[in-house]
Amino acid sequence: MSNPGNHPTDGSCIFCKIVAGQIPCFKLLEDDMTIAFMDINPVNPGHALAVAKGHWPTVDVIPAEVLAAVAKTAQRVAKAVIGELKPHGVNLLQANGEGAGQSVPHLHIHIMPRRPNDGVALNWEYTPGDKAGIEAIYKRLKAVL
Ligand code: 5GP
Ligand code: ZN
Repeated sequence: MSNPGNHPTDGSCIFCKIVAGQIPCFKLLEDDMTIAFMDINPVNPGHALAVAKGHWPTVDVIPAEVLAAVAKTAQRVAKAVIGELKPHGVNLLQANGEGAGQSVPHLHIHIMPRRPNDGVALNWEYTPGDKAGIEAIYKRLKAVL
């Protein structure tokens, strides 16, 4: 496939190559702004990715309407995963930056089916936070929103 929607692309990006049809994938669906395909390193069976067609690395730079389209695609895939594979649960995960574990700098949402005791390190025990500390950060964020 070429680039009929004139999305921004990056010639060195693996997901741009998948979007352009230069690298094969198990494509689940495609629309104007998004594509969804199976992850080649599945955390559990059914692990899939909802991906923007355009090359935007992270949540802070992608246009809101494209992010909304990726979320909608993730929901469609999640519904299929839940209905067909009946996993114990599903996490939607979207990483931004190396520190968050992002390995492909092209925005995508993981649709990650979960199995009991699968050892996926996404969940954590609750530890009550310090109210003053929460409030101080809250004030900084509120001031820029
Ligand atoms: P991230 O670490 O950026 O949140 O997620 C990137 C995901 O892309 C990983 O789960 C990885 O397995 C997947 N991935 C990397 N390269 C390819 C590829 O060439 N094809 C497919 N289908 N998935 C890929
Ligand atoms: Zn890209």
